[in-house]
Amino acid sequence: MISLYDFLNAANGQLFGEPAAQLFTNFCLDPYLADSSTLFVALQTPRGNTDQYIEEAIQRGAGGVVCTHPPDCETDGVSVVMVRDPFDAMIAWSKYILKKYTPHIVAVSGSSAKSVAVKAIAHLLSQKYGVHGGDIDVSGLLNIPLSLANMRPDDEYLVLKFDVEKPGDMADLLEIASPDIAVICHIDCYHPSTFTSCNQLLDEYRMLVKAVPEQGLVVLNADDAQAAELAETVTAPVRTVAMDVFGADLMAYNILTDTARTGFDLRFGSERFVARWIPLLGKFHLYSALAALAVGQYAGVPLDRGLRALTKLTPIAGRLSPLRGTGGAALIDDSYSANMISTHGALEWLSDVKYEHQAVVILGDMDDLADHTQLGHRAVGIQAAQVADVLITLGAQAAQAARSAVDHGMDSQSVFSAYSVEEVLNAVRRYHLTKDDIVLIKGGREARMEHITRALLDNPEDEPNTVRYMPQVEETDEHPGSQTLYTSWIEVDTAILGDNIGIIRNMLADHVTLCAVIKADAYGHGAVATAHVALQSGATYLAVASMTEALELRDAGIEAPILILTYTPLHAIRQAVRSNLTVTIFDLEQARAYDRAVRDMRDPLKYHVKVDTGMGRMGVLARDALHMFRYLAALSHMQLEGIYTHFSVADEDLDFTREQVAQFKRVVQAVRASGFDVTYAHCANSAGVLQGPEFHMDMVRPGVMMYGMAPAPGLQLPPGINPALSWKTTVLQVKTLPAGHNVGYGNAYTTQETEKIAILPVGYADGLRRSPRSWQSVLIRGQRAPLIGRVSMEKATVSVQHIAGVVPGDEVVLLGSQGDDAITADEVARWLGTINYEVVTNILRHVPRTIS
Ligand SMILES: *Cc1c(COP(=O)(O)O)cnc(C)c1O
Repeated sequence: MISLYDFLNAANGQLFGEPAAQLFTNFCLDPYLADSSTLFVALQTPRGNTDQYIEEAIQRGAGGVVCTHPPDCETDGVSVVMVRDPFDAMIAWSKYILKKYTPHIVAVSGSSAKSVAVKAIAHLLSQKYGVHGGDIDVSGLLNIPLSLANMRPDDEYLVLKFDVEKPGDMADLLEIASPDIAVICHIDCYHPSTFTSCNQLLDEYRMLVKAVPEQGLVVLNADDAQAAELAETVTAPVRTVAMDVFGADLMAYNILTDTARTGFDLRFGSERFVARWIPLLGKFHLYSALAALAVGQYAGVPLDRGLRALTKLTPIAGRLSPLRGTGGAALIDDSYSANMISTHGALEWLSDVKYEHQAVVILGDMDDLADHTQLGHRAVGIQAAQVADVLITLGAQAAQAARSAVDHGMDSQSVFSAYSVEEVLNAVRRYHLTKDDIVLIKGGREARMEHITRALLDNPEDEPNTVRYMPQVEETDEHPGSQTLYTSWIEVDTAILGDNIGIIRNMLADHVTLCAVIKADAYGHGAVATAHVALQSGATYLAVASMTEALELRDAGIEAPILILTYTPLHAIRQAVRSNLTVTIFDLEQARAYDRAVRDMRDPLKYHVKVDTGMGRMGVLARDALHMFRYLAALSHMQLEGIYTHFSVADEDLDFTREQVAQFKRVVQAVRASGFDVTYAHCANSAGVLQGPEFHMDMVRPGVMMYGMAPAPGLQLPPGINPALSWKTTVLQVKTLPAGHNVGYGNAYTTQETEKIAILPVGYADGLRRSPRSWQSVLIRGQRAPLIGRVSMEKATVSVQHIAGVVPGDEVVLLGSQGDDAITADEVARWLGTINYEVVTNILRHVPRTIS
């Protein structure tokens, strides 16, 4: 309960208007979850404050509101509390409540399995006491007020997660709550990038155990070297728990695992308890149960009673929680989070229960592993290779696990690297799951693997038992998400990309092969991810510009045929054969040199001949083509697969293009009549695809239209094809300049009157062109903000005089849509005096692509 007057007192707040509700059951950070029993808190966030949501919260019936300024909406019937900083107010209230009710505090900390431990400890203590276990799905300090909100005044014990995300967090936590008991089971030295060393992380935990008073208790996992080491720092009594290391106070042994529970025998001093079990999976969670027994014992709950109570525990969503999957498969949902320790623990459990089951492991990118990202994912791949029959990864980092699994002996036919949820599901569907299968789903928070869990449920009514994040809290978290680590980023919507490609596929007759052109990093969209989506959506052939681009795809495990459209240097030609790539031939001497270079190889070099039918670029002239083919026939290590030409004006001059096609078809006919076996004759780029079936021949090579852009301003795309790429940044600073103030290099802009401007952390070093012409505006809060002054190397400035409420952290759209408005590549192309192709490919490659 939160009492209005406690809150006012504690937070030094001021009532605005008449008070209404005086008691609230909970805080609410998400306006969409507000109701009459909740107190809505408008937190300041890196993306700005949530003031704009106050009206929404009130409309949805919030009983009270905490804010910094008087709301500019009707507040009758709502208790409005004004404070200097709403976050600080919640913290002050927490301290006040703990002082008022003085419960015993159990702090559960460490890198993993904290929620399970909180739940087990609270459950055991509740055998004897009033207990409140705070297992709120929020990280950082906010966890404390949110947990306290539904504590009862007579609760004697309070069990809290002490979550440290960065140096200094523990000091802040201890400043709010002084624990009597501290529990640490796992410490992961593959620490996130907020820490510079494992020792720095350990310092946080040292601080916690040191803070426990002499009459308190510290419980440590003796099997975890880092946790065990903390004992040295402690003045309070220490209880250790273990399964492997002898000499621990509470020892579990004879561990038996299956897909529903974990059995064990327990030894404490000379006491033995045999054939006990918990309804949680794996040794990893058994540590939490042992820690709970130790805490219970300290508080006067005898071991035997505690052991009995533990059999009544229930699993927590997303923590090795067993669900029934499609086909009756055991769906083991471990999707809540993933660091090295918990991922290792999950795979260890799988290897213990596997027996004759088929084990399918679905692994998403793990949480932040700082410098260990590559090493960590590869290590997980090695472990997966030993336990999994099928491994499906989601995301670019997890793909490294897939590769290392193959490197370590896993059959590449059973390993998939996917880049979207849809792709993962398609891969799973190839294995008709049955009750003999175990599917383990694991991934970091940002991988959002809970979507996969939900899609694989046998019974949709189990959905409430899957992971739900508090949506607003995620955003209001003190730490910015990974995207905001970058100054600007690209978002590619794979669902749109997939739809576009599907629509193109439907424009083609069945016999026409769809070759997706993904040169130039898929026109800036990210080649590997685009290739996956294309192959998923009806393309069966890929085309790139160079060998380097082709090898990037092969390295990512893509096995589809790949045509290299431009030149392949002679020294790379053996690699082309080894990697099963198809090259383009446009000259007889070139072909002869290739043939000599691959003469002693087992497989022939596959090639397509490019014919110049009027573009005047690469290719053999149409009138010389037949002649060349006669000589090509003599090259014994080359295998002809196709013949193609390219249009120069398919977007403008239909007559010229028709003549090109006619000429090309004559060449193809002559070549085939002379007995050459040509599987693919092809000519159509996007413009050609749009011109209709007479251009499609055996294969088409669309590029630009796949990405949702028209090949020329005059050409209409079919309905349903939309741009898939957005380029975004955030507002860095907002300030108001007086009249007559200059902006940017060269004083190229001078304010006419007082003008509010916003600085953006993006410049020509990212691909935001400076000259001769630049972008004209960007979108902020759904409105156009014009660029003013010159674009700098990594900064640009816009005027936001006319846009209300712009704050640092606001999303800025350089390309893409926001609110009701959109800036398209076509529009930018007009500003810059170029074509949409150049707009998207000019965003530099260091700008990260986030694929959703
Ligand atoms: C780039 C390219 C394409 C794709 O062209 P779009 O206009 O983007 O559809 C097709 N064929 C060749 C040879 C290309 O170089």
